[in-house]
Amino acid sequence: MTPIRFNTDFTLTLDGQGVTAGEHFDVLDPSTEERLAQAPDASLAQLNEAIAAARRAFPGWRDAAHATRQAALLAMADRLQAHQEPFAQLLTNEQGKPLADARAEIGRCVHWLRSFAQHTLPVAHYDDGAGHRFETRHVPLGVVAAIAPWNFPMTLAVWKVAPALLAGNTMVLKPSPFTPLTALKMGELFRDILPAGVLNVLSGTDRLGPWLTEHPGIDKIAFTGSTATGRRVMQSASARLTRITLELGGNDPAIVLPDIDIAATVPALFWGAFRNSSQFCLASKRMYVHASIYDAFARAFVDYARTVKMGRGAHPDTQLGPIQNRLQYDRVRDLIADAHRTGVRFLLGGDVPEGKGYFVPVTILDNPPDTARSVVEEAFGPVLPLLSFTDTEEVIRRANDSEYGLGASVWSADTEAARAIAARLQCGTVWINHIHALSPEVAFGGHKQSGVGVENSIEGLLEYTNAQSISVPA
Ligand code: NAD
Repeated sequence: MTPIRFNTDFTLTLDGQGVTAGEHFDVLDPSTEERLAQAPDASLAQLNEAIAAARRAFPGWRDAAHATRQAALLAMADRLQAHQEPFAQLLTNEQGKPLADARAEIGRCVHWLRSFAQHTLPVAHYDDGAGHRFETRHVPLGVVAAIAPWNFPMTLAVWKVAPALLAGNTMVLKPSPFTPLTALKMGELFRDILPAGVLNVLSGTDRLGPWLTEHPGIDKIAFTGSTATGRRVMQSASARLTRITLELGGNDPAIVLPDIDIAATVPALFWGAFRNSSQFCLASKRMYVHASIYDAFARAFVDYARTVKMGRGAHPDTQLGPIQNRLQYDRVRDLIADAHRTGVRFLLGGDVPEGKGYFVPVTILDNPPDTARSVVEEAFGPVLPLLSFTDTEEVIRRANDSEYGLGASVWSADTEAARAIAARLQCGTVWINHIHALSPEVAFGGHKQSGVGVENSIEGLLEYTNAQSISVPA
């Protein structure tokens, strides 16, 4: 393998080759707003070529021994691990997140590839006692379109690449135009591990997503992004009944019961809400705190928040980086302006300083009404409402009163009481007294408007397959 230059030469991976495009678009460093690089803007002809290459590669990859695909995933994990540091730096540069978080993200990608490599596809047998023996196996779908967002560009790409390829599919991966660089380098990194056409990586501007999801050569769309875009993806998929997995937005409640140890719990609750500058589908976005401890909790929470350092991701002291792009920065500023307009009290923040970089200081709101935009909408930025509640039935109702249903957390000295609440929350994942533990072995997905289907675990793997039952005379 020729050594990779991480700051330049960003090319598409198309049928196993590095290819440039006729046009390019700028990728900015969100902490300076300066141009970091130019990424190729794939044309429709190049997308057609990539899909054709993926279709050509499919029969060979599907029919390869399962062990061959497992070995490929392990080789990808090793290769990525060997390049963890330059990938982490590139991720920080394009996404803005602190370098420690970027390193952790690459580390998780390595872990996910290795874990998926252990899986085999289950085969079920059944004898109906009436002369028929059934065998149900799982066969790959064909060409997968994988579409990733800008908040965890590597993680949310690898969550799709690993299971899709292991199951025997081929892929066209499209990163967000805001953060295409790490995905392009990942395509380059894996070029000589995978047969040509198995993994194609195409960056492009806003036209590329719809071209991809509407393309007749796609058999499955694995999408992570906003609920609004998810609906459009589902609409495109309906034309040909293209299979879909949609991981969408969230507005996760954290429920804080009166018996918690405030000092011991505040840091975990803070990071549950603000890690990645709250650009996290699973961030706590509404924090319900029992009225009897509300004031003491709010004081401790704000005191802790004041100790946290925001800045350029590459700076070693930085704990929170900027918002990733201008569009999202403007949305978050608008949410803050709305809170000012409607008379919400700010416990912290509320002013967004002028200057280069999309920095929004940690903003904590004091008990806005349930109808406030900051409570109803997914902020996807460091703006958190603290909300006071008095009884369990009430807080369960308010927590469930959302179109979203991605995650939630419950915090109490009484784990059984917290479990009882967890069981009644309408969402895909609930953490008790901790938050954001995720595993390649555990199904992850949204209820309600937060998604369709799951990622991770055997269940997530099987979403890249069709079941096929073969019946033979017993
Ligand atoms: P987005 O929906 O704007 O974009 C996501 C991806 O879809 C990008 O690659 C984008 O280029 C592409 N895209 C845009 N329009 C498209 C179209 N019409 N057809 C096909 N593709 C199209 O989302 P975003 O702003 O990048 O990400 C933030 C959102 O993602 C938040 O709502 C967040 O909660 C959600 N998210 C969900 C999860 C999860 O697992 N549930 C994880 C991370 C982020």
